[in-house]
Amino acid sequence: MQGKIVKGIAGFYYVHVVGMGVVECKAKGIFRNRKIKPLVGDNVEIDLLDKDKFLGNIVNILPRKNELIRPAVANMDQALVIFAVTRPNPNFSLLSRFILMMNKQQVKTIVCFNKQELVNDDKIKELKDIFVNSGCVVVFASTYENEGIDEIRALLENKTTVFAGPSGVGKSSITNLILPKANMEVGGLSEKIGRGKNTTRHTEIFNISGNTYILDTPGFSSLILPNIDKEEARFYFEEFTPYQGQCRFNGCVHVNEPDCAVKEAVAAGKINKLRYRNYLEIYEELKDQKKY
Ligand code: ZN
Repeated sequence: MQGKIVKGIAGFYYVHVVGMGVVECKAKGIFRNRKIKPLVGDNVEIDLLDKDKFLGNIVNILPRKNELIRPAVANMDQALVIFAVTRPNPNFSLLSRFILMMNKQQVKTIVCFNKQELVNDDKIKELKDIFVNSGCVVVFASTYENEGIDEIRALLENKTTVFAGPSGVGKSSITNLILPKANMEVGGLSEKIGRGKNTTRHTEIFNISGNTYILDTPGFSSLILPNIDKEEARFYFEEFTPYQGQCRFNGCVHVNEPDCAVKEAVAAGKINKLRYRNYLEIYEELKDQKKY
């Protein structure tokens, strides 16, 4: 029997089996010898020991598609990152960093801007244009007017999606609309004044239906850049891909080199200036990073 680990607490793993429910499992010693620890998100084979009490053993972990470090989860298909169109204004630097990290893990990012009722169409277009060649899907939502939620729901179908976003953007409200049963706590008063607090306590995947799962993560406070070389960062900006190999120098990092096809594309408006600026920030930051 196959299922997906949705939660792990004190040596117990909770495995969701489609059409059946959640089975409480232990991982047998074989994993310790193989130096592999089951992770939330793992697809596993289980032996059902007691079908009335929903007890079982994990006997095999299927190969992982990817693995995130923090939160420690496996097999994420995509990420949904939520910002507000305004109040608070989106932090694009943070957003670009997030997209880069996810791209490194081969996880596609859906960028969701909430509170769309607060801005006009020009602002919506401006936000769309920033990410037009980024490889990200961009959606707009209003939890206040219950808009965009069906579109998000459709994007989640049959996938495991990690939800992320800073506080105060309405992430909990969106999660609640997608998954009313989970009763994710909304930050209450603190959410209203634009400084929501973290309410997510442990790593848990929620099953929406069938093979559709979501993982909610607390804010961005724990977000750190994975170990990547500064020379590597350029490969995780999809905007640069069409210009690969067109710069004068082999190994051009598109910063100070002359005859750089990427910089020319930025100047010509073919690559979004803000996204390029975010790239430069990330590059500088990685340059200063200590090597261990
Ligand atoms: Zn270049």
